[in-house]
Amino acid sequence: MAIVQEAGTALWQQHLPADHPFQWPDTDSSSAAPQARVWISPRQRQMSPGEGLPQGQWHPRVLWVGVGCERGTAQALIAQAIEQICGHYGLAVDAIAGLASLELKADEPGLVALCQDHHWPLQLFSSAHLSTIQVPHPSAVVAQAVGTPSVAEAAALAAAQASSAQATTPPLLVPKQVRRQPGVSGAVTLAIAQASREYTGREGHLALVGTGPGSLDQLTPAAKGAITRADVVIGYGLYVDLIRPLLRPGQIVEALPISQERQRARRAIELARWGLSVAVVSSGDCGIYGMAGLVLEHLALSDWDGQTPAVAVYPGITALQAAAARVGAPLMHDFCAISLSDLLTPLAVIEQRLTAAATADFVVALYNPQSQRRTEPLALAHRIFLAHRPGNTPVAIVRAAYRPQETVICTTLDQLLGHPIDMVTVVLIGNRTSRLHQGWMITPRGYL
Ligand code: SAH
Repeated sequence: MAIVQEAGTALWQQHLPADHPFQWPDTDSSSAAPQARVWISPRQRQMSPGEGLPQGQWHPRVLWVGVGCERGTAQALIAQAIEQICGHYGLAVDAIAGLASLELKADEPGLVALCQDHHWPLQLFSSAHLSTIQVPHPSAVVAQAVGTPSVAEAAALAAAQASSAQATTPPLLVPKQVRRQPGVSGAVTLAIAQASREYTGREGHLALVGTGPGSLDQLTPAAKGAITRADVVIGYGLYVDLIRPLLRPGQIVEALPISQERQRARRAIELARWGLSVAVVSSGDCGIYGMAGLVLEHLALSDWDGQTPAVAVYPGITALQAAAARVGAPLMHDFCAISLSDLLTPLAVIEQRLTAAATADFVVALYNPQSQRRTEPLALAHRIFLAHRPGNTPVAIVRAAYRPQETVICTTLDQLLGHPIDMVTVVLIGNRTSRLHQGWMITPRGYL
């Protein structure tokens, strides 16, 4: 199938087979012999039956029609003007995203009724805003009347700009055109600009999903549903691989390398603001050293109103719970989690918290305990705990819990550093009453 795409989202293209001949505009179709053609464009293409191939057109909603009109302009006049002008310029009415005008026109009956009939949004701008937009045909007369030298062209450009991903000025496909009809009241001025992003007509949704420690069994049904419903799934590649069986054909998957958390968060917000339903996946619980906080922080920075895009957080089984379950019941009394990664937290703060937890006799789960490059914090933790707890305090070292390569080691505090510990390991250090029985770790609650 030969595909020519001139506008609209290219996200779907990741589902094309790798060797699919894809034709952007201007490329010659002679390289492959297509058996069908699809045009993705705001332009109306005249299909010639003689071409002999099945053909289809898809019109992404990228056109914003700026409208200026006299008070009381009939709906039919505006409708006819839109149709005629689209026809004249070879544009598809189906590609219209919506109409745009001056705030004053919020109650213009013909305009409002036309938008309702077509399910077109009506974007309204203040004359102050419109007067800041550079247009090819400003008018002193219009400026005198409504406080901006352009309504139709400026509103079309403003609306197209607002729904574009880039900051560059969108193209004005149709400069201002005035239409009136004998015997019909009013006059209408139209202009059409093209947004770089199509209008979805949907309110975006962000699902912040914890996918549990590894195996799909340990994922809540709610989290599974959120992943399957999403238009787009975004996450670190390894976690996306773990949930791959839940993905459905046609879903957009954006797996990004580790360390690109900020980009993942921004991308998720961008797609949700555009109207997509986006699942951001984090292993374990997404709100425990996961993506949930980062996404919410970015939203807060962008003046989010708390409602749009809608956000839902789906909790997951965090590493400390998974590890605890593998060794018994070490978390039966007060506990805390401390990440030993000094990437985002100064080592002095980590040291302070380790000392506080050790002193207060919390059972402690150490996340991000040790990497090849970073061994010092674990040695520090070891020293601090040994200063406050006996050397025979039980310790569990659980690596890759609920994943195929899982290993579980029960040992004691003084032996802690003799075992392999890496970044897929969580370390549980018992409190002063924790004990080991036949390989099971128990922290008494106080009943017995
Ligand atoms: N959001 C995750 C934690 C991310 S921080 C959660 O709630 O579990 C990454 C750290 O989590 C790893 O360095 C490791 O300490 C721990 N971790 C994550 N998954 C794990 C697993 N399956 N087994 C053991 N530790 C794990």
